[in-house]
Amino acid sequence: MNRTFSPFAIAFTERLCYYINKYYRTEFARVRPEQEGERIEHCIFVYYLSILMPSHKDFFMKRLIDKLAATQTLEKEELLYLLLNYDDNGSEYLFARARDVAKQHFGDQIYLRGLIELSNYCKCDCLYCGIRRSNKNAERYRLTPEEVLDCCEIGHKLGFRTFVLQGGEDRHFSDDIIVSMVESIKSAYPDSAITLSLGEKSKDSYQRYFNAGADRYLLRHETADPIHYARLHPKSQTLQNRMKCLYDLKSIGYQVGTGFMVGSPYQTLENLVSDLLFIREFQPHMVGVGPFLPHHDTPFGHHAKGSMELTLLMIAILRLMIPNLLIPSTTALGTIHCTGREQGILAGANVIMPNLSPTTVRKKYLLYDNKISTGQEAAEGVIDLRNRMQTLGYRIPVSRGDYRPVHQHGNTRHLSPSLYPPIERSTSHVQSSI
Ligand code: SAH
Repeated sequence: MNRTFSPFAIAFTERLCYYINKYYRTEFARVRPEQEGERIEHCIFVYYLSILMPSHKDFFMKRLIDKLAATQTLEKEELLYLLLNYDDNGSEYLFARARDVAKQHFGDQIYLRGLIELSNYCKCDCLYCGIRRSNKNAERYRLTPEEVLDCCEIGHKLGFRTFVLQGGEDRHFSDDIIVSMVESIKSAYPDSAITLSLGEKSKDSYQRYFNAGADRYLLRHETADPIHYARLHPKSQTLQNRMKCLYDLKSIGYQVGTGFMVGSPYQTLENLVSDLLFIREFQPHMVGVGPFLPHHDTPFGHHAKGSMELTLLMIAILRLMIPNLLIPSTTALGTIHCTGREQGILAGANVIMPNLSPTTVRKKYLLYDNKISTGQEAAEGVIDLRNRMQTLGYRIPVSRGDYRPVHQHGNTRHLSPSLYPPIERSTSHVQSSI
């Protein structure tokens, strides 16, 4: 919609919406006190603009996106409005802004990371994950330190300068083994960064890996809502401990990555808003977001997969929230759609993580059904990947691709006033339409 509005019309409408919202909140609190904090309140809040002026939805979407780009934040209800009302027009505008911001910070560069999947033994039992302890059908493997070094050698020749060692929580890999693996990779390839993604450990262990030379650590929080977390994990695994690990990692000095799945079972749009707000508060250096994809041998095997569009939306919002964030266009995105990885880049992602694991084990690290591991996904496909990035206007440098702080983006939270007055109480849970 190309219509323009006078500042007076905008101010008037926003004021009007404010009073309507206030009126309805009072009304509902009085007439139906049992509904407090329930669906009604936020439905009124997030729908009122579109109900009032459905034809002007594009205009309000654009204003919210501009506000997000200018201030790096939005109110909870504003984020919910975005997630409830996005359509092709809104997404295109958001992606274009996110791409611009990525270009400002990273130019035309897309960073590469070589993913080495160490082991699919896991003591955890995450209900969504194909390598969970209870999956008796998983064919287990673990790489030897020599095999890991071989992967690094191949990767280094191909131009990789970051090696990501990811794996299940395998008791076999004691701290001593991990420390010695990190040390030998560092001494063989001192120009390369090491990222670990080995799950929850004690602060002491994290410190030892860091002292040995590990630079970064990836640990997705999976969902920032403790109730939702409890539906995705067994009782022994808690969001509280996950968060403790994340804060420990940050305090040690790692570049820290977190993230979440989009469309995981029982997830609501409000959960996604909580994920975004947690990330805004935690200020990680990297965030991985991918759609949930079912694995047939897990309790969630029959659940629907997540939405690619919503995943792309999350990437773009994150890019505007934290402009210098390292955001991978994930394997799960590449799995859900053959051009998913490219679309991730076009939504503002700036990292790609091809698989460097030995081809013999790739099919065994099956987190979800149909996980891709050949073609562009594989390290052997790096030339193809470079070409495909080039056709999109990007190039892949031979570089560690470290996080770089940006000072002027400090606390800009209060640069501009909220578009809408804040709501004090929490809004209701909305079942997502994913
Ligand atoms: N043990 C490590 C690595 C876990 S696997 C750790 O705990 O960090 C890496 C990520 O894959 C997980 O954090 C999860 O977000 C994602 N994942 C697992 N199962 C998935 C599924 N079924 N669909 C989509 N992503 C999944």
